[in-house]
Amino acid sequence: MSRGILLYAELTRYNSDGQYVHPVFFELAAKANELSQKLDNAPIYALLIGAHNLVKEFKEGFTENNIDTVYVAEDERLKDYSTEYYSKIAVDLVKEIDPEIFIIGATTQGRDLAPRISSALGTGLTADCIELDINEKGQLAATRPTFGGQLMATILCKNQPQMATVRPKVFKPLKEFIKKDTKFINKKPDIDNLEKKVTLIDFLKNPEKEDSALEDAEIIVAGGRGMKDLMGFELLKEFASLLNAKVGASRVAVEMGLASHEMQIGQTGKTVTPKIYIACGISGALQHTVGMKDSDKIIAINTDKNAPIFDIADIAIAGDVFEILPELIEMIKKNKI
Ligand SMILES: Cc1cc2nc3c(=O)[nH]c(=O)nc-3n(C[C@H](O)[C@H](O)[C@H](O)COP(=O)(O)OP(=O)(O)OC[C@H]3O[C@@H](n4cnc5c(N)ncnc54)[C@H](O)[C@@H]3O)c2cc1C
Repeated sequence: MSRGILLYAELTRYNSDGQYVHPVFFELAAKANELSQKLDNAPIYALLIGAHNLVKEFKEGFTENNIDTVYVAEDERLKDYSTEYYSKIAVDLVKEIDPEIFIIGATTQGRDLAPRISSALGTGLTADCIELDINEKGQLAATRPTFGGQLMATILCKNQPQMATVRPKVFKPLKEFIKKDTKFINKKPDIDNLEKKVTLIDFLKNPEKEDSALEDAEIIVAGGRGMKDLMGFELLKEFASLLNAKVGASRVAVEMGLASHEMQIGQTGKTVTPKIYIACGISGALQHTVGMKDSDKIIAINTDKNAPIFDIADIAIAGDVFEILPELIEMIKKNKI
């Protein structure tokens, strides 16, 4: 019988009062449901840490995602994230329930927390994974880009629990909720003897981030080197605004100064899964496609009919963006599409 899969249910803040369960948790929950089936229906656990009333506030997120048990650590001192407190609580829980897999979102918080936990437990951690599976021996097979993104490596962990972090938007949440009679178990945090080394003073919004919000866009029009210059990107933006779409970019376009880093999609940029992704003048290098390949529909416009982007495109348009985009813009303006 499998010892189970533990997920970290990150609480994150939208201001000094309000908080929510980070969407990456629901993506991990969907993947954990899949992994659990390959491990003879292994139980799925979650760890939720915060100040108070957590179950009342966040119950549905667990009961509707087929989570068996949620371990809840509440204390006023846990209102804000603290590496020392949170990692101690996670390590204590792992020692007690002994899961065979522990998965954490590769968010700002998760990237800080996961290595602390793995080093305290003396186990391995595969960071920034883009796929998780169970191999024929029942081990967690965690896949991540390696050698500067030239290769994908599937990594096995020799120790237990097998730990991994996964970037937001790599997996999709459950299409339909799976209801469960989830058990909520309170865990008294044993943190009295710990020194908290960082104090949180304030939350400031990142205006650039607010502006782009690429990760939540339903339609993305992305440009690469093929858009040539700022005039080319203006054309792209006009097309995007007519479609109510957000504008994304390849790393080369960012390096050419045509777009901000916030707009970069791919291995060292954002991972996105819009309903429609329109790649304009983008070749489709692996480092780009890892960040957009799970979009529902991919449309690519490229002069090179052998461009790798066409291998993953649902609609491939072999042609010049400077002829095709103006034509599409005209057609939209005249309500022809
Ligand atoms: C460690 C590492 C991390 C990286 N991370 C990222 C990342 O996060 N995101 C990312 O995007 N890249 C990343 N890269 C870079 C990646 O390898 C590619 O170099 C990059 O994605 C290429 O960008 P591009 O497609 O815009 O340019 P190119 O590969 O030069 O492609 C331009 C394309 O435009 C087409 N084209 C030219 N003119 C026209 C026209 N008029 N109409 C239509 N098509 C035209 C060409 O046929 C060509 O296919 C990374 C690389 C490394 C080594």
